[in-house]
Amino acid sequence: MEQLIVGSFLSLFTLEFLVEFTLNELNLRHVRGRIPAQNIPDIFRAKIQSADYDKSVQYTLAKGRFQRWADLYGRAVLLVILFSGLLPWLDTLSTTLLSRFFPVAHAQGIIFCLAVGAVFFIIGLPADLYATFRLEARFGFNKTTVKLYVADKFKGLMLGVVFGVPLLYVVLWLMEATGRYWWIGAFVFICGFELLMIVIYPTFIAPLFNKFEPLKDGNLRDRILKLAEQVGFHAIGIYSMDGSRRSAHSNAYFTGIGKAKRIVLFDTLIEQMTIEQGVAVLAHEMGHYKMKHIRRMLVVQTVFLFVGLFILSLLVEYRPLFSAFGLQPTSHAVLVLFSLLSGPFTFYLAPLMNLLSRKHEYEADRFAAVTLRDGRPMEEALVNLTVKNLSNLTPHPWYSFYHYSHPTPVERIEAIRRISV
Ligand SMILES: [Zn+2]
Repeated sequence: MEQLIVGSFLSLFTLEFLVEFTLNELNLRHVRGRIPAQNIPDIFRAKIQSADYDKSVQYTLAKGRFQRWADLYGRAVLLVILFSGLLPWLDTLSTTLLSRFFPVAHAQGIIFCLAVGAVFFIIGLPADLYATFRLEARFGFNKTTVKLYVADKFKGLMLGVVFGVPLLYVVLWLMEATGRYWWIGAFVFICGFELLMIVIYPTFIAPLFNKFEPLKDGNLRDRILKLAEQVGFHAIGIYSMDGSRRSAHSNAYFTGIGKAKRIVLFDTLIEQMTIEQGVAVLAHEMGHYKMKHIRRMLVVQTVFLFVGLFILSLLVEYRPLFSAFGLQPTSHAVLVLFSLLSGPFTFYLAPLMNLLSRKHEYEADRFAAVTLRDGRPMEEALVNLTVKNLSNLTPHPWYSFYHYSHPTPVERIEAIRRISV
């Protein structure tokens, strides 16, 4: 049985790798074939200088090549962690250490999970450092300093401990003390925990990393407030965020629920856009809100959580799964195995989620165009964002279908032009 488990995991793991690798290579080849400037898509021809276009192609190619090696590295590491005996060794180590020094309920399970997390954190660092300080820097996007980078990682780890330990404690307790239907209790608890995170993220967590200021008085703010009134968008904060501290990439997002909801504009976006374009971006974000996209995404994620926990409740009873990886059948071992082994299974959900997300983006673009009674500001904002961020103008259709949470810029602009306002 153990061999069958390992064999099926490895086959699915290989299949996932082949799909991922092929998509990336197809995309690289597709973009490379577009290098001559006459291959700029019609919609962008008059809007992007050929030097910028070349740069966007080079940026896409550099990211794709990095992806190729980072993916191989990540997969090799996962196999080593699963099959080298590291997991059983960490498990025994945490048991012996803790029974001697720290005999508290669930401490062993928590330490084991944190130790596995720490291993992945350390192993992931080289690729992350390379992406930030070489790849992004080469194209002029990286603005973060080593000091800020270290501070960010430290804060991230602290948050992981502060929120992860209580979460693990309660889940492990539920698994061990509440019988067969523990997973229903865990489901309710995790839903509550996620809700809490959504509420405290914009007001308490995001400000640990960035400075948020209410949008300054001025033309943009006046226009936005008028727009908010027009679409019935009340009691909401509109903030600018110092994204330029870390990166020259620009963005805007909508976050939070209830009183904690807010729209955040990166300072880089405010700087590079005209007022008209900024208002269009805001109208797009308000579209997400008005059409309840965030709530719909949350519902889908909650369904996944429910199904995931149900599967976990079956796996925890299934002894061969543990012995296949040299582990004792414990609650914490199943949590770690589940998170390490689920990739090749959940991989196929990504395109479905992206399909839904792209549908939402089209709807929000349409909302912006109809609300402003003009599609052009949204279109111009998209062109601006695409050019400044050196986004790939011509992804391979299979690649964008699989990986893109937003339709490609060309697809979005074509859709906007079809809207009659
Ligand atoms: Zn959007």
